[in-house]
Amino acid sequence: MKARTIEDGDAVNVRTVQGGDAKGDAVKAYLPFTRPAIDEATIRDVADVLRSGWITTGPLVSKFEAALSAYVGGDRHVRTFTSATAALEIALVAAGIGARDEVIVPAMSFAASANVVLRVGAIPVFVDVGLRSRNIDVAQIESAITPRTRAIMPVHFAGLPVDLEAVYAIAARHNLRVVEDAAHAIGSALRGARIGSIGDIVCFSFHANKNLTTIEGGALVTPDATLLPVIEQQRFHGIRRTAEGEVDVVSAGGKSNFSDVSACIGLAQLAQLEAFNARRRSLAQRYFRLLVEEDGVLLPEQADTDHSWHMFTVLIDYGRFGFTRPSFQRAMHERGIGTGVHYPSIPSLTLYRQLGYVPERWPNALRIGREIVTLPLFPAMRDDDVDRVVETLWQVLRSGRVR
Ligand SMILES: *Cc1c(COP(=O)(O)O)cnc(C)c1O
Repeated sequence: MKARTIEDGDAVNVRTVQGGDAKGDAVKAYLPFTRPAIDEATIRDVADVLRSGWITTGPLVSKFEAALSAYVGGDRHVRTFTSATAALEIALVAAGIGARDEVIVPAMSFAASANVVLRVGAIPVFVDVGLRSRNIDVAQIESAITPRTRAIMPVHFAGLPVDLEAVYAIAARHNLRVVEDAAHAIGSALRGARIGSIGDIVCFSFHANKNLTTIEGGALVTPDATLLPVIEQQRFHGIRRTAEGEVDVVSAGGKSNFSDVSACIGLAQLAQLEAFNARRRSLAQRYFRLLVEEDGVLLPEQADTDHSWHMFTVLIDYGRFGFTRPSFQRAMHERGIGTGVHYPSIPSLTLYRQLGYVPERWPNALRIGREIVTLPLFPAMRDDDVDRVVETLWQVLRSGRVR
């Protein structure tokens, strides 16, 4: 695969802004914090699917599900959906989790991880995360278990694998299901085992920002064939075919089946995933070489596992440098660098406060949620883009301090 440079990119995503030099004549491409890598061959393949007349769930969905199954070792059941959020919610329903059941969720993740628990009528029980790993603190899981706990939902934050051996040992001791939110983690591996190749129920996201995109989409991976009838009914109107092939409806299922158009993109993305993730790892290593930690700036854990580096996030004590996070992000933006916030702590969100959660009970999640910022990281980035991000970051922070 030829790595595209940002200058080759499309007109929509690449805006140009004035560079920072005194004359103002150095025009550099705007660097967004992420950007999907869709090549021309994929666009041609999509055009063929559109012309074929079969655009929704069809042969390419089955082919993509089989390819994903092969990617995670070949012996697992894979079902695709319009989103990981749908996959996670359906996973909980299929696992029989409902009213007043409790599910253990990290206090720092995308809100979807906890929202799906509420959506099935269950109760999210938050556990704090590691300051650098941003993953659930496995040592605190057992003290959050009650007689009503039914499942643990670890999130492999930014693609850093959670210690699954420990999580599954706890789950086995307490007879709990595990629903892994692996939205960030396609291509990550733990001690040689790809995320999804082991485990109970594992959900991936193929949203536009994720390491593999199908525009929108998600997949559920499980070795448990007994879950499949409910999963398939939940994803398509509760339909079960009779022996003669007639349509019958046996539950009030939803509608989150995947399309052949998206599956076509997914197949092309999957073929490039190893190259995408290798590039992400290389860019992350460059960040670690260039970004020297100092007081007020905390880097993420530098894992020795196969990390998919979905995002490169740092914690910044903005106040120490005379900034707030929005003013820091604006200053970066004005210098041509896009940044993101992934994510506020879940208990600090209005919905969860209103439900009675007190965000201070999960101090690491709260601090991460206030200080985290996502720096640009995507496969088409060049090495010198990383250099520019790091230089600009220090330029901005130092400019704040003298103020
Ligand atoms: C993106 C994301 C989701 C939801 O994925 P969608 O495919 O957008 O529904 C869930 N959990 C985490 C941690 C995510 O980052």
